[in-house]
Amino acid sequence: MSKTSLDLQTTVHVEASNLKAYYLTEQQGVMKEVKAVEDVSFDIEGSKFLAIVGESGCGKTTLAKVLYGFVNSNLSIIGGRICYSFGDAQYEVSPTANTLKDAWWKKISYVPQGSLSALNPVRKLKDIFLDLANSHGVPFQEEKVKNHLKMVKLPPYILRMYPFELSGGMRQRVVIALATLLHPSVIIADEPTSALDVVTQRDILRLLKSIQVDAKSTFIFITHDISLVPDLADFMAIMYGGCIVEYGPTEAIFSRPLHPYTKFLLSTVPTIGDKTEKQPIPGSPVNLIDPPPGCRFHPRCPYGEKICAEQRPGLVENKANSWECRVACWLYR
Ligand code: SF4
Repeated sequence: MSKTSLDLQTTVHVEASNLKAYYLTEQQGVMKEVKAVEDVSFDIEGSKFLAIVGESGCGKTTLAKVLYGFVNSNLSIIGGRICYSFGDAQYEVSPTANTLKDAWWKKISYVPQGSLSALNPVRKLKDIFLDLANSHGVPFQEEKVKNHLKMVKLPPYILRMYPFELSGGMRQRVVIALATLLHPSVIIADEPTSALDVVTQRDILRLLKSIQVDAKSTFIFITHDISLVPDLADFMAIMYGGCIVEYGPTEAIFSRPLHPYTKFLLSTVPTIGDKTEKQPIPGSPVNLIDPPPGCRFHPRCPYGEKICAEQRPGLVENKANSWECRVACWLYR
């Protein structure tokens, strides 16, 4: 019998250490580096839901691609590595190796932002499922696919349709059905609901959470919307300017945020009955081509000291209320 995510639930381990990934881009005839992922470290094990949160342009989509080993010609891994251990097999993405492609779909899968671009517009959905099964040496069994569609709340007749004939929410369910068809143990979802209306967004998020719980998979969810996180994630990582600035259990970060940027983000979350005017975070996001020296948040931080502009703080453990959180800020040294 083949192993499923249920069999592997206790052995999946994802560890990113000092991961650094840059784009090479041309500006007015000059080649420049975009320092999109800078020294990112975290680890997660077993059936856990991790949310990576940050504002637009902070490097989180690049991080998602690197975590999936989707490194194309203008994106390079400069340093560090990401290791996946599935108990019976190990995979690595680093400057010198990328073995993760061998694990795509069967052990790790990816739910992208835009469902329309993820589906071949000239193939009927049955053919798209057929192609996926064939390309992985798995027999295509229509009844099983129909049952799988039922799990993501889609009627079986959609197999006869083209992607453009479905609504945005239905297409996103198809993408989720494809990503989970071969029972991967790790799923990375990059802003999977950003193009959907609020009601559909809520339904899709509930679906993703139920899939993660039922399949006991490891889920890495990328979002700019911190208000979505408490209902979903066991752990969260706050990303700013290509760096992870705070990492820990969701409950801990929501009840006692440490990093000044996390505090700003949480202060923007609306709550019922709160009529106070929400203040935007002062200043502008980091220019990743020319990030400031030291702490990348220091030009916007009200607590900055001399050292903040000179040296970048590493992510170190801080036992807040007995929770094990990690924070990258000189205030906690
Ligand atoms: Fe602010 Fe300094 Fe902490 Fe950066 S290291 S967040 S500038 S106090």
